[in-house]
Amino acid sequence: MKRTLNTSHSAIFEYWKDKMITSDGEVLKDDFNTPDSIPVVKDWAEPCCWACGCFVESVYKVKDYQEIAHKNPRVLYDRADVKSKLNRCHIIPHQAGGSDEASNLFLLCEKCHDESPDTQNPKNFYKWIYKKRNSGLYCNGFNVNGIISNFFEECKERKKNPYTANLDLMKVFQHGGHIAESSIYMALADTCDNL
Ligand SMILES: [Zn+2]
Repeated sequence: MKRTLNTSHSAIFEYWKDKMITSDGEVLKDDFNTPDSIPVVKDWAEPCCWACGCFVESVYKVKDYQEIAHKNPRVLYDRADVKSKLNRCHIIPHQAGGSDEASNLFLLCEKCHDESPDTQNPKNFYKWIYKKRNSGLYCNGFNVNGIISNFFEECKERKKNPYTANLDLMKVFQHGGHIAESSIYMALADTCDNL
């Protein structure tokens, strides 16, 4: 039977909105001066994955978005589109005895949820978050810098001209509901002319 998780997205936001994570995997509260620390919630008014930073862009279209974001950003976190885009991810997994308290939950996109470590030591989880946040430009869970550099590498190996890439000809296949980063740069390299 599927377990129900009763902790709301807004309760999780409320708990984490004033917390910071250090590179050592420590959690600090309201301490914005510690070097090498990042806020868990970058911008209260912009619900996003707390690992890769991809936004739930549909909230920008909400009527009176600016006013809601300013007065009570919690409202944004319990919207259906935000709830479906951001998973409530256990820091210590339920199977390992982790609780459903907001302090043991993090808001992550599906891709980051899949990638996140299952660990009994919360420090490992926070360290992973810290690394992910500092490891390049992410968009919808995809590492854009990584895709671009792999694409150039791929073209070099195949002796193709990367500047002839044609997005209209690109065919990307997915498996298990996910698109792999390798599928994207490989498919793009397929469209390039030989040197
Ligand atoms: Zn993510």
